[in-house]
Amino acid sequence: MTVLHNSRINERLIRTVGNAIALAGRGNRLCVVNYHRILAGPDPMLESEPDVATFRWQMALLARCFNVLPLSAALAALDAGKLPPRALSITFDDGYRSVHDLALPVLREFGLPATVFVTSGHIGDRDMWNDCIIEAVQHLPAGQLDLRHLDMGSYSLHTLDARKATLAELTESSKYLPPTARLALVDSLSAMVGEGAGAHGLMLTAEMILNLDRHGIEIGAHTVSHPILTSLNDDEARREIVAGKEQLEAMLGKPVRLFAYPNGKAGKDFDARHAAMAREAGFVAAFTTEPGPITKHGNRYALARSRPWDQTPLMFGLRLLRWLAA
Ligand SMILES: [Zn+2]
Repeated sequence: MTVLHNSRINERLIRTVGNAIALAGRGNRLCVVNYHRILAGPDPMLESEPDVATFRWQMALLARCFNVLPLSAALAALDAGKLPPRALSITFDDGYRSVHDLALPVLREFGLPATVFVTSGHIGDRDMWNDCIIEAVQHLPAGQLDLRHLDMGSYSLHTLDARKATLAELTESSKYLPPTARLALVDSLSAMVGEGAGAHGLMLTAEMILNLDRHGIEIGAHTVSHPILTSLNDDEARREIVAGKEQLEAMLGKPVRLFAYPNGKAGKDFDARHAAMAREAGFVAAFTTEPGPITKHGNRYALARSRPWDQTPLMFGLRLLRWLAA
């Protein structure tokens, strides 16, 4: 009873503070939350990804304390100067199967809209390179992971903490490898893990994407192969941006208007050239992975998105308000 009472007080506090922010000259703003994978249960190797129980309380909080809008509708309301206070949109990047299997039922339970930015080259296909690393680091036997033949190094897999450190280090150093070197790493790891590696069915199938679309989940683009755009030459970057859009449009039979940059850090992962390419390709907006509010006069091709890491509903909600008010 007390717990429920406290949570109601916290929710009222979040709404009140959110309304005050809008009244204090920071109205007509949008906050966009950004998820990737949803896990069936907690995983010590993937502490930054929410499990479905965590995702569920977060959605309950958003449904009760925020005005959650479909992203395209929110941008239209922003242009018209008509966003409600506490305006928020929910997004998922990369196109994980768990968005369909685990998140969609929760979204439907709370009547929440969302947008999924799909990496078109991974639909129903090979897992993403970062998941191949996770798979290998999780399942290889205890010992050293020797990648010196790839000019990388030798990494410890002796304890859970060592595996976590290895995962973080390998993921970070692979992000900025040229695509061919990254592929060589993934192939090497897959060969070490053995049978069936690299095809574990973590990503959405075409049928699931169509089903998300039928349930009103908007599909956005996220390139074909999820490269760091600044690591490509202009022709390659343009091809990734344009073909990612065209492949999804062919599948859905309708225009895809929203884009999210892979990795999403402005100046590091993409720059003004890629923003211009996104505009020329026909996208009406493009999203980063940096926290902050979206305002009417901000750059429509570098829109803020992030996800609070807080463990309690109150702190989670207050951080979203802080980003809205920033
Ligand atoms: Zn991504």
